[in-house]
Amino acid sequence: MKLYNTMSKKKEEFVPLEQDKVKMYVCGPTVYNFIHIGNARPMIVFDTVRRYFEYKGYEVNFVSNFTDVDDKIIKKAIEEGVTADEISKRYIAECKKDMEGMNVKPATTHPLATEEIGGMIELIRTLIDKGFAYEKNGTVYYRTRKFADYGKLSHKNLDDLRSGNRSLLVTGEDEKEDPLDFVLWKPKKEGEPAWESPWSEGRPGWHIECSEMSKKYLGEQIDIHAGGEDLIFPHHENEIAQSEAANGKEFAKYWLHNGFLNIDNRKMSKSLGNFFTVREISEKYDLQILRFFMLSAHYRSPLNFSAELMESAKNGLERIVTAAENLRFLMKNAQAEAMNESEKEAFAKTREYVEGFEKAMDDDFNTADAVAAVFELVKYANTTADGDSSKEYLQGILDVLGKLTDVLGIIVEKKEELLDADIEALIEERQAARKEKNFARADEIRDELLARGIILKDTREGVQWKRA
Ligand code: AMP
Ligand code: ZN
Repeated sequence: MKLYNTMSKKKEEFVPLEQDKVKMYVCGPTVYNFIHIGNARPMIVFDTVRRYFEYKGYEVNFVSNFTDVDDKIIKKAIEEGVTADEISKRYIAECKKDMEGMNVKPATTHPLATEEIGGMIELIRTLIDKGFAYEKNGTVYYRTRKFADYGKLSHKNLDDLRSGNRSLLVTGEDEKEDPLDFVLWKPKKEGEPAWESPWSEGRPGWHIECSEMSKKYLGEQIDIHAGGEDLIFPHHENEIAQSEAANGKEFAKYWLHNGFLNIDNRKMSKSLGNFFTVREISEKYDLQILRFFMLSAHYRSPLNFSAELMESAKNGLERIVTAAENLRFLMKNAQAEAMNESEKEAFAKTREYVEGFEKAMDDDFNTADAVAAVFELVKYANTTADGDSSKEYLQGILDVLGKLTDVLGIIVEKKEELLDADIEALIEERQAARKEKNFARADEIRDELLARGIILKDTREGVQWKRA
């Protein structure tokens, strides 16, 4: 199995640190708003990477953080007149709903930066003790020039960086020894969330968060560190400088970065008016379609989002789901139980499609070709399965199809429509929960119904419902 390592700029054979195990860290979003469809790309592609490792029999420890203390969160909290904590909690919950809609598995651990401050302080202390960091007026900086390998991931030369980056001298940070030094700890400003530390009451810099959370939940050395390509410099470069200086060993063996998502061939930005949240997209399309669309390209290529491409993803996905439905329908009416000789031969042929799929995924997770292999299997199913097929044959093909689509995180089984009686029962349960002031459960029921296409309306006469 080969994967492209940003560090070596080459495809390398994957060799795990520990047999049959993968330790993987993916930088998560800063939670100050609904996630946008660009943020959804690393979630979907690295969830697919995880699923493929699991398919291959690896046990994956998958850690992805939420950055829940940041200037943008504080700004939003001030705008709304609420606490930063309220903003981050709200958007973590919303992000998790979007992830569920996109069928992104929850991480093994989703650490929150604000719950790991103690560990970050310890890490900063180690860096100071080892001479890799220094304090000035309550701020702690990383001494970049002390780390000989700085620039090895982004393939940047330190001297070029220094001469070309006078702008790195941010106002208020002019006490730095060197413009390339970056912040590990900063004192609070009025009204900002803050924690006690040996240097000042303040908060950690962004980069130290990931070094600490990766170490705490995965150990000093990990197999894979991943994120969008904009994180290569400076974020990942700085994480390497921090972790390797503190721990004295190579931080991550493989660095994976996804390409950017553009809209109508332009960079997505609020000012251009071409900015979509996942939630907005979910009002128009099933998020399964968004997922399938993302996987139609190789994860390292730039990907263009457009209505036409979403339509084509919708049609493609429909073809797969319909084939699965057809197999299930045939199974209900099938006469023969076991495969006959010619069916056995026909079934053996499905191995070719599975191999095509695995070959594509083994080649740096080429999901575009993997999807093509699924389409070939669908075509094969459509041409070989019919009213004369045995149950065993139909189930066999359905299982193969299910195994492959599961790696892609595509659900081929349509959720059974809720019967009226089930809906009424859930509404009754929700009313009871409300009476007991168990609003969490009441909201949960409303959300579950909504996810299954049932909209509730509370009126003076009671609860009314309709199908979306
Ligand atoms: P942020 O909250 O900005 O730190 O972003 C969270 C993740 O989304 C990071 O891995 C980013 O690299 C990634 N990301 C942000 N914008 C895009 C985009 N337009 N296309 C692909 N990935 C993106
Ligand atoms: Zn990170």
